[in-house]
Amino acid sequence: MTLPTHDEFKKSTLLIVDDDFINKEILAHGFRADYNILLASSGEEALAVAERELPDTILLDIVMPDMDGYEVCRRLKSSRRTQKIPIIFSTSKCTDEDEVLGLTMGASDYVTKPFNMALVKARVRNQVLLKQKTDLLEQLASIDGLTEVPNRRYFDEVFEQEWRRAVRNEYPVSLCLVDIDFFKQFNDNYGHTAGDDCLTLVARTLANISRRAGDFLARYGGEEFVFVWPNCDVKHAQKLAEQARVAVSRLGIPHVHSDVSDFVTISLGVASIIPESEDDRKDLLESADEQLYLAKQSGRNTVSCK
Ligand code: GH3
Ligand code: MG
Ligand code: MG
Repeated sequence: MTLPTHDEFKKSTLLIVDDDFINKEILAHGFRADYNILLASSGEEALAVAERELPDTILLDIVMPDMDGYEVCRRLKSSRRTQKIPIIFSTSKCTDEDEVLGLTMGASDYVTKPFNMALVKARVRNQVLLKQKTDLLEQLASIDGLTEVPNRRYFDEVFEQEWRRAVRNEYPVSLCLVDIDFFKQFNDNYGHTAGDDCLTLVARTLANISRRAGDFLARYGGEEFVFVWPNCDVKHAQKLAEQARVAVSRLGIPHVHSDVSDFVTISLGVASIIPESEDDRKDLLESADEQLYLAKQSGRNTVSCK
């Protein structure tokens, strides 16, 4: 993964919120060459645009009719989707108290009217660069360093989100636990580096299995992986798991010390449920784990499904 280039920086999106047409035009004019510009004339509109477009920074007027900038800021900061977007307040009169209030609400900076464009640009640029770095760090913190698929931390977070979505929409969620067969023997006989290469290849193969929106694979730990398949019933999940099993065995990675094949194989445990509450989440994981255990018991290189 590399840091954004200058060109990518230029593509950052800036949302300008002001009820005054002239102010909006001055800012838009000043930034148009370097940013994708979004405009909003009211608090309501700003919230809708921010939620939909997820801009990289928001320049937010404080004094607006109906909903003021403070309220917009409070709502943006309390929504999971928008809470990390930096907010720069723009205001004509700004006492120290105003500034403290804004900063304690989570705003990142202030600019004052009439605008000194050089100063506004410098402040916006700082926030955009900081946001890019934070995004990158967050992305890195969610990726397994060896296999480069999402890690356990990502799984915990996103599985919870998918779960809540499934409860709301009343559709099934399927989970599939994957474990490489006789992997200890693989390491013992081919060495740990070959073991790492094998894990990486298996991970990348699994990651290509199902790519519908919401589907994902994560490294669950050691030589175990987990698939999350939202809006997927047990029959379809079983098919996908079987595809995964075949795809890994077709890699043809030699494993002469496996008791089940001449090549590396995996065992898979599938479970599916239409979630009703938070508690079912743990049950589904346990259920998939039981199925994985059964797959191992019944000889490995197989899918077991509840
Ligand atoms: P089973 O078929 O029952 O799953 O047997 P197994 O040998 O695969 O299971 P076991 O849990 O005994 O061994 C798992 C092995 O996975 C042991 C551990 O060293 C190896 N392993 C875990 N993480 C890594 C890793 O990041 N790299 C390498 N090379 N090996 C790893
Ligand atoms: Mg294991
Ligand atoms: Mg294993």
